[in-house]
Amino acid sequence: MQYITIGSGTTIPQSGRSAPCHLVRVGGRTVVIDLGPGSTWGLVRHGGIDLRDIDLLLFTHFHMDHCADLAPLLFALRSRELARTSPLLILGPRGLHEHYRNLQAIWEHNVAPAGFHLTLEEWTHGELSWTGCIINAALTSHSVPNLAWRIDALDAGSCGIVVTGDGQATEALTDLAGSADHVLVAESAAGPGTLLEGHLNPAQAGDLAQMCGSKKLILCHINPGSGSMAIMKEAMTTFEGEVIVAEDGMVFDIE
Ligand SMILES: [Zn+2]
Repeated sequence: MQYITIGSGTTIPQSGRSAPCHLVRVGGRTVVIDLGPGSTWGLVRHGGIDLRDIDLLLFTHFHMDHCADLAPLLFALRSRELARTSPLLILGPRGLHEHYRNLQAIWEHNVAPAGFHLTLEEWTHGELSWTGCIINAALTSHSVPNLAWRIDALDAGSCGIVVTGDGQATEALTDLAGSADHVLVAESAAGPGTLLEGHLNPAQAGDLAQMCGSKKLILCHINPGSGSMAIMKEAMTTFEGEVIVAEDGMVFDIE
């Protein structure tokens, strides 16, 4: 399994850090988690993918910094150059159907699938077996329903990845991540030494990784103003494993 941080930042534009978006390659398939503003370009620039290659799109929640590029993606997939025939599955928390209906109300046929089958499903509970992997999710504590997603490759002995999206730890999240080998990609929108309701700071993210027995902690959703070293140092006060502060375009082989 390969994981690439496409966008390591927040809604505040920063040089070198764009809005949240993650790319996972597993079992020959391409999975994208979140599509913050500019992510369709980021996926091409940092992920080297053709947008037609996306098989599964997972949304953590429907705040603009995590989903604003859904309309540009669907619009791009209508162009002759990106015409696709393979189906696209989109999963998200409660609100996915309403979000898509709202996009249709604004953009009409421009967000309709052309030549391929589009399926949207709101995840409520239970794991999902999907080509080459198992997908699972858990709600975090955020101001709107936010799903942390877990992806496990089906090959025996391989390690999974958990991407938290936004929000503080919940029992459901620690159950999701704590059950088997995994790398944790956690948000850290609150800078070192600060508290932000509905978000994690580096020490809290480290605490979560420690509690879940994560193999490695990759911190993302970084706001401007905190240096990577300060973020890493604070996370290391609570987590004994390896801590990485993500930057756009970082590639990780997860095994
Ligand atoms: Zn966010």
